[in-house]
Amino acid sequence: MRDEGDASKDRRIEELEAKLTAYERCEEERRQSGRGWWGESYEEGVKLLQDIMEFIPQGLIIAKGPKANIQIISRNGRETIGLPLRDVLGRSRAGGLQTWGLLHTDGVTPVRAEDQPLARSIARGELVAEEEYVILRPDGGKVPIACNSGPIRDESGSITGGVLSWINVAKSQKLLEDLRESEARFKATFDQAAVGMAQTSPGNRFLRANAKYCQMLGYTFDELARISLDDIVLPEDRDKERLLVGQLLAGDISSISLEWRCLRKDGSIIWTEVTSSLVRKYSGEPDYIIHAKLDISVRKKAEEELFKSVQEYKALAENSPDLIIRINRGLRYLYVNPAFEAFSGHPASECIGKSIREACYLPEITEKIEEVVARVFSTHQAESLDFALRKPPEDARHFQASVVLESGQEGLEESVLILSRDITELKRLEAESKRAMEAAEQANRAKSEFLANMSHEIRTPMNGVMGMLDLALMNNPDPPVRSYLQMGKKSAGHLLNIVNDILDLARIEAGRIEIGTREFDVRMSLEALFRTMALEAEKKGLRFSAVIAADIPSRLIGDEGRLIQVFTNLIGNAIKFTTKGEITVKVTVARPTDIGMQEACPHTDAICMFASISDTGIGIPADQLEKIFESFAQVRGDLHLQHFGTGLGLPISRQLVELMDGKIWSESELGKGSTFYFTVTLQEAPNAQPETRPPRRKPQKPRQAPLTILLAEDNPINRLLAESLLEQRGHTVKAVENGQEAIEALAREPFDAVFMDVQMPVMSGEEATRRIRDGELPGVDAAIPVIALTAHALKGDRERFLAKGMDDYLAKPIDLEQLDQALERVAAKKESLQDR
Ligand code: ADP
Repeated sequence: MRDEGDASKDRRIEELEAKLTAYERCEEERRQSGRGWWGESYEEGVKLLQDIMEFIPQGLIIAKGPKANIQIISRNGRETIGLPLRDVLGRSRAGGLQTWGLLHTDGVTPVRAEDQPLARSIARGELVAEEEYVILRPDGGKVPIACNSGPIRDESGSITGGVLSWINVAKSQKLLEDLRESEARFKATFDQAAVGMAQTSPGNRFLRANAKYCQMLGYTFDELARISLDDIVLPEDRDKERLLVGQLLAGDISSISLEWRCLRKDGSIIWTEVTSSLVRKYSGEPDYIIHAKLDISVRKKAEEELFKSVQEYKALAENSPDLIIRINRGLRYLYVNPAFEAFSGHPASECIGKSIREACYLPEITEKIEEVVARVFSTHQAESLDFALRKPPEDARHFQASVVLESGQEGLEESVLILSRDITELKRLEAESKRAMEAAEQANRAKSEFLANMSHEIRTPMNGVMGMLDLALMNNPDPPVRSYLQMGKKSAGHLLNIVNDILDLARIEAGRIEIGTREFDVRMSLEALFRTMALEAEKKGLRFSAVIAADIPSRLIGDEGRLIQVFTNLIGNAIKFTTKGEITVKVTVARPTDIGMQEACPHTDAICMFASISDTGIGIPADQLEKIFESFAQVRGDLHLQHFGTGLGLPISRQLVELMDGKIWSESELGKGSTFYFTVTLQEAPNAQPETRPPRRKPQKPRQAPLTILLAEDNPINRLLAESLLEQRGHTVKAVENGQEAIEALAREPFDAVFMDVQMPVMSGEEATRRIRDGELPGVDAAIPVIALTAHALKGDRERFLAKGMDDYLAKPIDLEQLDQALERVAAKKESLQDR
């Protein structure tokens, strides 16, 4: 049973068959009438073909017959061949070879006629596709082509001709070359770029990276190829990185440019500046991301350090107790620190930008600041400023400020910094220390007075003791008594030395010793000392040798007495602590180059005298070599304690040497001997002349010419002593007890001289002398010689008394030789007056 569907199918088939039949009939009619689809006639067809030939952009030849006579050629073909139409049409390809040839792609070898594509298509029906040749034009030009060719057959299938078509590939070859060249250039730029360059896929895999990029991250490219972009990003930065890459791929942003930390292969971190952009395919799809990376670690580090130091300085200013403000040329606040805010009671926000007059928190000194700041801006010299500010109800606070210019670096405004330090407390301490110093000075003065008094008080009875012993000895006592008296005198001498040393040390320590700066003949005084010391050494059976090097200038400036004191102490010790052998003294100039001498000779422009005193004595244990320079220190041990001493000589020597800018030290070997070294700094006397020595005066015998002498002395023993000494010498003596009695006696009767004690009750010797010299005492000779006879025997006392009008000075205990010399001077003066 046929259904409805089958019927309609049959109908459609019938309709198709009818259409086919109609088409075949039409086609048959068209063929039989000789009409083409393009037109009504053959000429019209040829015309159409020629039109086509004029416009197609390729070379095209239609050839006929076995010889391939050219029937039609496109305009592009003619232009390629370089021949006009008339020279081409009707010619066979073979014939055409004489004027235009076909070469192989090497551009040299001709293609044989039978091998040419058209010839092969016509002769053998070959279809030639995409074969490349070079056309040789009559003008010698060569055009590379790619050609196709094929046969034309008639209805029976026989070949009647052929078609050759080609395109000029010169342009595409150039394009290809350009492309290759640009690719090479890109590769070179990419590989050798000074910045790191890399390409990553949209999936963040590394596609390419240059050497710099690899070196920056410490990976080889092969290693990079195995990891992803994520692996060189710090874990905490990965989310941000993915977000940015996502935005780049989505086209939300065109490129990324930022400073970014990168993780190197070794785990270290570098700062980089990265620029990434997306490259899309022709289709618009993301192709790859290109990254340019610069290592900015050094810059970042510098920035971080700068930031750190700025922070540090800021912290300093912010936490400084000093008031710090910065002011510009217009005297406007640029900065105030918290200390300033606290002091002024105004926050920075109220100050910044305002002038110091507007925000006048320093009213007392506004004008002064204006003046100083203006000067600092113009001179560029820092200045300091002292001022006081009062913040009622508090007391005024004292400040010391430095005003310094901050040179305006590029783009920065020039400004001055005012740093004010609160010195109120310092001032208070200063005042306190001044008061303390005054008190100390007062105490020191009191100490000096005490020393002077003590010296006086001890010397007065000592004078009595020693004088009386002298007197007793002068009376030629029997031998045992004489020896007792001599021992008594020796002991008294020791006692006096001890007193002298104690006083000396006390005065040095009180800073009351001044080192003299007088010119002296160092050779002469040292030689004299060494002669005396040699005698003492010889008394003990010791050899003594002393050498003063030739480089010691003869005249020097310094303290002769103190220098001799040091030598005396050290040589005295050497003799004291040596029982056999020798004492050697050497004096020379220390050169700055001498090892270890720099410290001992601090002044290069002066003479550094270097002395060594060696002995072959009992020596000093190493552990006590330093100690012996301390006051009252003596070496423990029987051998040492057998000798008399106080332990004051070395400390005094050390102090004196140090006062003379020198140093003292010792070396010793127990039982073998010791060497003491010291240096002192002395100045060479200008134009040092060898001194002509005055002939040494022989001690003279007391002159026989008797004098009439007034003696003023309150102490009865000393009075008796002085009286006896003077009378023994044949003089007439009148003794009184004080200054008052002395001037009264002088008014009553004439005298040749007055021996005047200084410290006396009722009227002191000084006062009495002043009155005598005033010339207002009737009957008193104002020019009478006055000889001070005093126990004030400290350094400077002599000068003090001479300045007070006395003519001469004798220290107690009285030295008989000095007494004789003083008497001699009085007698000489009397004589010269009588001679006139
Ligand atoms: P003093 O000799 O009066 O005791 P010093 O201060 O001059 O005082 O010397 C301190 C001590 O150093 C001496 O007591 C002695 O023990 C030791 N001394 C000093 N010079 C020598 C020396 N040349 N040889 C051995 N010992 C010495």
